[in-house]
Amino acid sequence: MSGGVVEGKEHKDGEENMAAWLVGIKTLKIEPYHLPPLGPHDVKVQIKALGICGSDVHHFKNMRCANFIVKKPMVIGHECAGIVEEVGSQVKTLAVGDRVALEPGISCRRCNHCKDGRYNLCPEMKFFGSPPTNGSLANKVVHPEYLCFKLPDNVSLEEGAMCEPLSVGVHACRRANISPETNVLIMGAGPIGLVVLLAARAFGAPRIVIVDVDDCRLSIAKNLGADETIQVSMNIQDVGEEVVKIQSAMGSGIDVSFDCVGLNKTMSTALNATRSGGKVCLIGLAQSETTVPLTAAAVREVDVIGVFRYRNTWPLCIELLKTGKIDVKPLITHRFAFSQKGVEDAFETSASGRSAIKVMFNL
Ligand SMILES: [Zn+2]
Ligand SMILES: [Zn+2]
Repeated sequence: MSGGVVEGKEHKDGEENMAAWLVGIKTLKIEPYHLPPLGPHDVKVQIKALGICGSDVHHFKNMRCANFIVKKPMVIGHECAGIVEEVGSQVKTLAVGDRVALEPGISCRRCNHCKDGRYNLCPEMKFFGSPPTNGSLANKVVHPEYLCFKLPDNVSLEEGAMCEPLSVGVHACRRANISPETNVLIMGAGPIGLVVLLAARAFGAPRIVIVDVDDCRLSIAKNLGADETIQVSMNIQDVGEEVVKIQSAMGSGIDVSFDCVGLNKTMSTALNATRSGGKVCLIGLAQSETTVPLTAAAVREVDVIGVFRYRNTWPLCIELLKTGKIDVKPLITHRFAFSQKGVEDAFETSASGRSAIKVMFNL
């Protein structure tokens, strides 16, 4: 491996930290990963659970995700939890042995977005496994104390890793002001659609309808508590007919629609199905440019809300898991060990199977 991947010099004897490096299209190699030195406000964490995200699969298949391009070998992965192994000299809230969930993005904390509390919009964000920042599918990582959240005894490390995808659902529900008065439509029953379902329910949404092309995914959604599931086609011509079906399944006005797919068809369906004065929240971004009936939605004062990752969500996610208001365990469909073969099999499973919701590593 080239010297370009070596991030720091600190390397204790007998302690070889290994990581899964993305070195080419569909090529992952477990190789040594030299950690940066532990700063005064950092902790060193032994990663114990890590989930594969849709964005990791994009990187794996295409060496890119949206505008983020993998130009040199990069450690993959970002949905993780582990055990604190070492703490920096100024660390006050964590101790060796604590079980923690890691929030993956380090923002600058100086720009106007950061100062305003909207740090997910920080242009200098360094995010695990988003090029050029190395990820966390490794035995150990170094991470700031303030982004490591202690897990209660009744929340497992796998559930801790699930705080990352769950955060997307929680942030989207906050952006859309989901309450006990909000009827919710969800386009897409993949991992993100399902965490939106769980979060919307926890926020009190009284009625939730979820839509997908895949009946297997819809039955998972049903088991997770969706009130109605509707199977739709891939054909854009069917939007009109399907909107009628969706609206009658809801039985009353659709206050908020979440598009967790991001195709012309799903966005068009969401815009047309939502009641006048309602909101459409765009989470999935399958197409970078879309053609949708925006004018018709605008004259009905349908608000379009963008969602990018999340901010300040870990404490609430941990609380929702601890109190049992959300159970993410049914989303974990596959488990793999952290080995060359395990990593290859896990990414193939996540990339190919629609039966795979969340593929998890146990390290
Ligand atoms: Zn993720
Ligand atoms: Zn910033």
